Amino acid sequence: MDLIGIYLKEAFENAGCPVCNILEKYERNEISTILYEHVNNPSVREEFKKSLGLCPYHAWKLKEIAYSEPLLGSLGVAVIYDHMLSVYIESLEQKQNIRVSKCFLCERTEEKERNVISGISKRIEELMPVYQNSEAILCKKHYEMLLDELRKKKPAYADKLTELQIEKLRRIRERVERFIDKFDYRSTEAPTKKEADAVVLAIESLKGLPLQVNFSETPRKPRLRGGIFGSRT
Ligand SMILES: [Zn+2]
Ligand SMILES: [Zn+2]
Repeated sequence: MDLIGIYLKEAFENAGCPVCNILEKYERNEISTILYEHVNNPSVREEFKKSLGLCPYHAWKLKEIAYSEPLLGSLGVAVIYDHMLSVYIESLEQKQNIRVSKCFLCERTEEKERNVISGISKRIEELMPVYQNSEAILCKKHYEMLLDELRKKKPAYADKLTELQIEKLRRIRERVERFIDKFDYRSTEAPTKKEADAVVLAIESLKGLPLQVNFSETPRKPRLRGGIFGSRT
């Protein structure tokens, strides 16, 4: 397997959605690099200016990461947002409506998301057996993205993925149900860690990790046939 394959395989060996996990790490690395190296970089400053200091999600994520890493601390955040305030104040003074464009971290993460999905699709032969035997569970959004890609590029694997997805979701559900049963007064056992973890996996399998790419998902409209109430013919 090539280097990207090894990196993807690793994500498929861990619990949770492999795509969400890769994106979470990617986002954290991007933000740390900016804070470590690029706070005073004019082109990065320009990127911040376009969105007036990122989208709300990434602004707070940047603050959280900076404050949680002792070597980073609050200085970088102060420098960035001092600049953003000056831009905002100037626009108010000049009675100009400031146009806020899309946050560049959102753009980068979305691009990464597309690349990861296409990378998985290209190596699906090797990754599917890993997926089958691990605690990984593609979240609904990333399962659908991968399925679309497979239908276009590797149709033979699309149905296999669906079968596997159902099998894995059923296994998670069984564990969640065992967890619930342990709360019955007749039960003499405490829930196991695996059962407790399944509750988190249940949320993750439906909603993915709390990332901007998942918050901004626009639900697909159901295809209606024969008017609002559908046709039975
Ligand atoms: Zn996901
Ligand atoms: Zn953003």
